[in-house]
Amino acid sequence: MARRAVYLDHNASAPLLPEARAALVDVLGLTGNPSSVHNHGRLLRNRIETARDQVAALAGAERSQVVFTGSATEAITQAIVGGVRAFRLDQVIVGAGEHAAVRAAANSAGVPVVSVALDGRGVVQIDELFLSIDAANTSGSQTLVAIQAVNNETGVVQPLARIEAMVGASPHYLFVDAVQALGKLPLEFASRAPDMMAVSAHKIGGPAGVGALLVKSHADAAKLIPGGGQETGRRGGTEAAALIAAFGAAAEAFSQRYDAARVNGLARRLEEGLEAIAGADLTIFGAMAERIGNTVDFAVQGLGSAVAMMGLDLMGISVSSGSACSSGKVGPSHVLEAMGVDPDLAAGALRVSLGWNSSEDDVSAFLDGFEEVLGRHRARQGRAALAAAVGA
Ligand code: PLP
Repeated sequence: MARRAVYLDHNASAPLLPEARAALVDVLGLTGNPSSVHNHGRLLRNRIETARDQVAALAGAERSQVVFTGSATEAITQAIVGGVRAFRLDQVIVGAGEHAAVRAAANSAGVPVVSVALDGRGVVQIDELFLSIDAANTSGSQTLVAIQAVNNETGVVQPLARIEAMVGASPHYLFVDAVQALGKLPLEFASRAPDMMAVSAHKIGGPAGVGALLVKSHADAAKLIPGGGQETGRRGGTEAAALIAAFGAAAEAFSQRYDAARVNGLARRLEEGLEAIAGADLTIFGAMAERIGNTVDFAVQGLGSAVAMMGLDLMGISVSSGSACSSGKVGPSHVLEAMGVDPDLAAGALRVSLGWNSSEDDVSAFLDGFEEVLGRHRARQGRAALAAAVGA
């Protein structure tokens, strides 16, 4: 009997919510350019402005602070590269566990980049960040601090309130990559210290290809694409009205669809199941830190992630190895490296991430599948050890 497909890779991309699909199809059926003043254009404009309200509501932002972009990666690049240029900044400080989109933007901003270490729990080292900001104050270096709210691999929640207290009280700028936090943690963008934040539709059940930069008016000059003045001059290019409308619909529906207590309960059951299967050989990364609840990043001593993922994939179970956006590329994780995880153990990292439509059956299927994969692997290892002993 064919096995049921099991999708447990929500941090890479969440399945499209029905509300988002309906909005997408509906607006794709409309004709026109949202900048046109005629009826056709106005209909599209209305859909975009409704979506702006919906995304603003989920992020605790004012509608004027929402700039739609083609992805969170674009929003991140606009904040970092555009911000460094517009505010004539001297350096960027990033956390060592930032997503590739942040690290690449910082490295292409044309100024020195300071990386702040993580501790063994996966939390950015606050003392080191404090020293870096202090050094910037002493040298008069105008700085952009770029920190994620939640790590996409481990689910570790970063101490934003403390970072905000540190940077908000200084002349420096604070950018937060809130991609994995949107809808799961209260962002309260308008009332809190960050100058800019990036969010993405496809992590909350919207479509890929649309994101937003949340930006306070004093930071509006951070731009990448001037174009034809769309998004009140902050991001040029005819708006992808259908994608934006679907982002808005997902933002509105997410709170009802994503039951955090239920998802966290499933994830804890999954962790207990792993403990029962792997015992002392199991390590759950970030387990000592506050975590977002839907993410289980783990390794079992001696089991490589490529072998495990392939075995699970053959059973129709999709999880991730290493970083979310490099699923399929099995390489060492810079996040685990920054946490000081032994490279052999890190080579076995698997990330299971649950979401709005994850079920008890998904967790059971994953645990059954993983037990089978690990059992086969241990049997192979046992046979190899025996052959080596006999041959010796
Ligand atoms: N930042 C984080 C923390 C992410 O997890 C991702 C995607 O995995 C991104 C940024 C990039 O988002 P997008 O795919 O919308 O460019």
